[in-house]
Amino acid sequence: MNEEIRELYQQMIMDHNKRPRNFRKLSAATAQAEGFNPLCGDHLHVYVKMDGNRIEDISFEGSGCAISRAAGSMMTDALKGKTREEAKAIFEEVRAMLSRDVHQPFEKKHLGKLEVFAGICEFPARIKCASLPWHAMMEALEPTGKQVTTE
Ligand code: ZN
Repeated sequence: MNEEIRELYQQMIMDHNKRPRNFRKLSAATAQAEGFNPLCGDHLHVYVKMDGNRIEDISFEGSGCAISRAAGSMMTDALKGKTREEAKAIFEEVRAMLSRDVHQPFEKKHLGKLEVFAGICEFPARIKCASLPWHAMMEALEPTGKQVTTE
C-alpha cells in the first residue's frame, strides 16, 4: 500500500471515529446484540431493523477505541439497505481481509470503502477492534445465544 493511500485511509478512519455515523440506539430494532473486546475494552451494541430479508436500518452505540468506533460507523453505512445474504457476503470479505497475511491480496467484490481497514492486519491487537462490530452484527442477524467476545 503506498503512503498516500495509507494516509487517506487513516484520515477516513479518524473522521468516522470523530463523527461516527448511525451512532445511536435504534428504538424500533427487531434484533440486537452486544460485543466485547476485553483486550482493548471495547463494548459495542449493534441494533438492526429488518424489513423481511432486508436491513432497513442499522445502528450501534457503546464505548470503544477509535478503530472499533470507525469500524461500527463504516459497517452500518455499508449494510443499510442490504439483504441478509449481502450482509453475510460483506462480513466474509471483511473477515478475510482482516485476518490475511499482510502482503496477501484479498477479495473485494463487496468491500467498497471498507477497504480502508486493509492495513489493520499489520496490527494484530487492532484486528479484534475492527472486527468486533461485525461479529455483533452477525449475532444480531443469526443469534447463537453465545456472548460475542473477541477472546
Ligand atoms: Zn479497540
